[in-house]
Amino acid sequence: MAILVVGSVAFDTVETPFGRAERVLGGSASFFSVAASFFVPVNLVGVVGRDFGEAQLAAFRGRNIDLEGLDRRDGETFHWQGKYSYDLNSRETVRTDLNVFELFKPRIPPRYRSSEAVFLGNIDPVLQREVLEQVEKPRIVACDTMNFWISGKPEELRKTLRRVDILLVNDAEARELSGEWNLVKAARAIRALGPRTLVVKKGEHGVLMFGEEGSFAAPAFPLEDVFDPTGAGDTFAGGFLGYLAGAGPPRDAALRRAVIMGSTLASFCVEAFSLDRLLTLTRAEIDERYRRFKRLTHFEEI
Ligand code: AMP
Repeated sequence: MAILVVGSVAFDTVETPFGRAERVLGGSASFFSVAASFFVPVNLVGVVGRDFGEAQLAAFRGRNIDLEGLDRRDGETFHWQGKYSYDLNSRETVRTDLNVFELFKPRIPPRYRSSEAVFLGNIDPVLQREVLEQVEKPRIVACDTMNFWISGKPEELRKTLRRVDILLVNDAEARELSGEWNLVKAARAIRALGPRTLVVKKGEHGVLMFGEEGSFAAPAFPLEDVFDPTGAGDTFAGGFLGYLAGAGPPRDAALRRAVIMGSTLASFCVEAFSLDRLLTLTRAEIDERYRRFKRLTHFEEI
């Protein structure tokens, strides 16, 4: 039982109303891997440059994360810089230096090919398909994407979506992909493209899931101090798929618990810059907050 993840491994420079972090560890595959590794072994596929050293790798070591698929190339690591407005709901990309990520060609080590679940992080949909061609028969294929690919490579993205079981996007992306403003209609249109389950992330407003056995809604965990939302989406995906991969068939009850587990992990991610909070997190803290989620949302029928 292992998850294969392909995505960015990055240096992030982040400015929030509460402070600034310069060239700290980031990237979709980094957040995803650390979150998912609380539940199942993770096989990481990505690329870094020569400037990515032991200090950064330390985040992955001592966890259930296999690094054979992390390619190291001549050049600099992908660098992303973002700035958040005061309410932390909107963010502006200040700069993106693709560096070694520009020529990234996912190469899946033979040992990874029998991974039971695959998470296709937000990369070119053509590359996402190339990953699927190199794996055997994953039980679950989950996928993320963004407006850049939705508008830039719509046909390629549609071909990829036909092979995806679970799509995770934010509300703006769901609207753009479907051409529908209403999220219920958007979900119907997106599910007709392939994914049986659609998870729509709405930041501080939580998550809506549309599946074969109906819909499910969860709030975000109400926190007094939200410090940096970067990586919350990927951390959600790591907790969600990590839980699901270890939980038997992805039927409705397991999917609902996975949404809460994803939301639990994401709520820790936003408490500090970079992966800082995830790296000190314990399984006991996860389980405690998961239980508080149940109390938060539970009510009796009249
Ligand atoms: P999230 O906040 O979940 O949307 O993810 C933020 C992470 O995505 C950051 O750590 C960035 O390094 C990474 N990222 C930003 N832009 C891109 C991009 N164009 N391709 C891949 N990863 C990116």
